[in-house]
Amino acid sequence: MLAKATIQSLNSLRDDSQNPAPVNATPALSRRGFLKLAALSLGGLAVAPALARVATAKDRELFIYNPHTSETIRSVYWTPVDGYLHESLREVSWALRDYYTDQMKIYDPRLLDQLYTLQLIMEYDTVPLHVISGYRSPSTNAMLCRRSRAVAKDSFHMYGMATDIRMPGRGTGDLRRAALSLQAGGVGYYRRSDFVHVDTGPIRTWAY
Ligand SMILES: [Zn+2]
Repeated sequence: MLAKATIQSLNSLRDDSQNPAPVNATPALSRRGFLKLAALSLGGLAVAPALARVATAKDRELFIYNPHTSETIRSVYWTPVDGYLHESLREVSWALRDYYTDQMKIYDPRLLDQLYTLQLIMEYDTVPLHVISGYRSPSTNAMLCRRSRAVAKDSFHMYGMATDIRMPGRGTGDLRRAALSLQAGGVGYYRRSDFVHVDTGPIRTWAY
């Protein structure tokens, strides 16, 4: 877990957008009934009551594809008996590494819980979730920052606290609504680039 002081300093970080358009943070109703999923923080897992009962009683598994490395992993990273599994956290973090430099950082387990919960809400478990961007080393983030104004200087990606994700076959708008329903951190909507940024920083939202 992060030390309190670290969390406070991270709270002062900017989000992943330098010029975000204002977005209505209230998730709209959808066919999948996201509003039924009133967010509940349960052991660090922000999830609806019905899902929470399931999620605390069974292993938490991530099914991830990294299009930059063409790697797919399926990993149980938490069990009711053992809690977070260190080796699995390393395995998932390696899959989320900076693919420019092959550097990795152990991910914030709360971010893995967000991804896991999104898989549950979206009922997306037969094919992997695509992670467009995971960890970014400071040098990679600086390079991306020079290329695009949509990249923040102090991005949560540099702290193992953010991912940019997509669920092929599902609307990115639905994924965004599901992420907002978690009320678990930052949610950025990149409609044209077809991905959603999720992080474990302060709750906020923006769109490009
Ligand atoms: Zn991002």
